[in-house]
Amino acid sequence: MSSASEGLLRDQLGRALRDLRISVTDRCNFRCVYCMPKAVFGQHFRFLPREELLSFEEIERVARLFAELGVRKIRLTGGEPLMRRELERLVAKLAAIPGIEDLALTTNGALLTPDRARALREAGLRRVTVSLDALDDETFQRMNDVGFPVSRVLDAIEAAARAGLRPVKINMVVKRGWNDQAILPMAQHFRGSGHVLRFIEYMDVGTANGWRLDEVVPADEILDRINRHWPLEPVPPAHPGEVATRYRYRDGAGEIGIIASVTHPFCRGCTRARLSPEGQLFTCLFAARGTDLRQLLRSGADDATLMAAIRNTWQGRADRYSELRRLDTPSLVGTRPKVEMFRIGG
Ligand code: SF4
Repeated sequence: MSSASEGLLRDQLGRALRDLRISVTDRCNFRCVYCMPKAVFGQHFRFLPREELLSFEEIERVARLFAELGVRKIRLTGGEPLMRRELERLVAKLAAIPGIEDLALTTNGALLTPDRARALREAGLRRVTVSLDALDDETFQRMNDVGFPVSRVLDAIEAAARAGLRPVKINMVVKRGWNDQAILPMAQHFRGSGHVLRFIEYMDVGTANGWRLDEVVPADEILDRINRHWPLEPVPPAHPGEVATRYRYRDGAGEIGIIASVTHPFCRGCTRARLSPEGQLFTCLFAARGTDLRQLLRSGADDATLMAAIRNTWQGRADRYSELRRLDTPSLVGTRPKVEMFRIGG
């Protein structure tokens, strides 16, 4: 079902293909407890060898076909995307693809120096989202589990802003009993900064984070905690399929967002496809299997064949995991295989 006027491809639930998340590596220099717990992904874990990763030329080719099918926004993710060497070369290729209107990157900031931020901006990157789960080192290091200091992430956020990678968004995953005491300090710190702080409900991504519903701080509770100190009002979504629900401070001190996949699922507006580092096309963050585009790329398939594979995958898509989890958590959680989040980006 494609609508000529919109030129967009629609899935089984009528959702248009608009966004492509490209994971350029499964490696990361953090071991965040909600994504890549050290106990499972320790020093002996085998990450993908370089030859199994899509090359920048292969990624560019696939991204160009997605753009022809209606994708307008690309987000580079990982693992930690800045661990992929010469990423600026890929950014320049993607920024030049006709139809791509937005090119963003999600990073933990560890490698985002002023020079790197400038180089990424000059290559064509538009904006960045930086992950930061607390403002005090004790809590933050308990979450990232590699002893990385808050100050260096704050420096990365300012380096991104100075380089023109704006608006800078900050993602905080909230886990009850781990960092929920940091909600108000984080809100206070970023009020008036011009940066947009987003609170993410802790999710049962992948198979290894030992997710429990009682460790989720619901979006309504996060909002209530902030609203008691600094009254908020809703902001309408900027575009269809926007992940975060937006609010602004009534006193003009800026905006926050809430990503509530657990308590307010947004599957009905989900317009995101995901490409893994080794070229698997996934249609949901909680999917178990993908469509192997690398095999086609490396067996000499032409563009029409690749396009057909992407089109068939999207048109056959009916994913709505978060909706189903909401309806019956016990029957879903921990019972089915899922791709690890660090392979397809959050
Ligand atoms: S659970 Fe899957 S379908 Fe639902 S919003 Fe997340 S990625 Fe999209």
